[in-house]
Amino acid sequence: MTTKYAFFEGRIVPIDQAKVSIMTNAFNYGTGCFEGIRAYWNNTKEQLYVFKLGEHYERFLRSCRIIHISLPYSVEELCGVTVELLREEAFRQDTYVRPLAYKADSVIEVRLHDLEDQFAIFATPFGKYIEREEGARVGVSSWRRINDNAVPVRAKITGAYINSALIKTDAVMSGFDEAIVLTQEGHVSEGSAENLFLVRHGKLITSAVTEDILEGITRATLIDLAARELGIETVERPIDRTELYVADEAFFCGTGVQIAAITEVDRRPVGSGKIGPIVAQLRDLYFSIVRGEKEDYLDWTTPVYAAAHAM
Ligand code: PMP
Repeated sequence: MTTKYAFFEGRIVPIDQAKVSIMTNAFNYGTGCFEGIRAYWNNTKEQLYVFKLGEHYERFLRSCRIIHISLPYSVEELCGVTVELLREEAFRQDTYVRPLAYKADSVIEVRLHDLEDQFAIFATPFGKYIEREEGARVGVSSWRRINDNAVPVRAKITGAYINSALIKTDAVMSGFDEAIVLTQEGHVSEGSAENLFLVRHGKLITSAVTEDILEGITRATLIDLAARELGIETVERPIDRTELYVADEAFFCGTGVQIAAITEVDRRPVGSGKIGPIVAQLRDLYFSIVRGEKEDYLDWTTPVYAAAHAM
C-alpha cells in the first residue's frame, strides 16, 4: 500500500494535489524543517501505534522557532491532524510519518523573515532503514558534522541534511553500512542520521548534547529505559575516536534506524564482533514497547484507530 493523501495547506487532500512550485524558497535554499515519526502495526491488537508523537511535535516546534517559522498549530492540534491523516490512509503496517514546515514564497532572496510559512504531512509504509540492524559495519567519515554556529544542529533543518547525505553516500560507496561522524573538534558526534551509544565497563556512553548532535527522541528514550529496566546508567560526555575501537558494544539509535548494533568500526571488531548483550536487550525492549506490547509503556504510544478496533 502506498501514500494516498497528504495534509497540505490546511486540509487533507489526495497526494497528487500536494505539489509545490519549483520557485518555492524552501526547495531552492533548504529553508524548512521536518520530523520523522514512526507508527508500528500491532497485529494482535489490530492497532497502529504512533511512538512518542507529542515529543516529536514539541521538537518540531522548537526547530520552527530556531528558523523563524511560526505555525498556527499547537502540539495537540499537530498530533490530531497526524492521527486523522493516518486514519484516512488506513495503514495496517509499519509506517513513517513526515511533517514538514517550510518557507513557501517564490522569492529569489535568501532570508527567513517576511516569508510565508506552510505546513504539510505525508505518511508512507516503511521497514528497515539499514539492512544489517544486528551487525552494521561502519567507518568514521572524512566529512565532519555541521557545527551549531554554522547550521543549528538541534533543529531538523531540511537543508542541513546535505551533510547527512554526503556522509551516508561516502560510507556506502566505501563498502560500509553507515558512518560515524566527528565534530569540528574531532570528537565523536553521531551517525549520518542517528545517535550513537557505546558500552564501556558496563555503562552506556553517548555524546553530550553539546557535541553537535540532534537531540534524539530515541536517545532520550533509551537513556530512560536503560536506567529503569536494566539499571544501567548513561554517561553523556565528549567521546574520543579511539574509544570506538575499544568499546565493548556500540549501537546507533533513531526513529528511522531504530536500534542497530554496530559490530565493526574502521575494520576493527567491536567487542566480540557480534551483537552484544546490552544492545540485544535494549532492542527487544524497544521493539515490544513501540509496538504497544508493554502495558506499562502504552502512554508512550498513540493509537490511531478507534478503541473498538483494538482488543
Ligand atoms: N541525528 C540525526 C542527524 C537525525 O536525523 C536523527 C533522526 N531524526 C537522529 C539523530 C535520531 O533522532 P530521533 O531519535 O529523534 O529520531
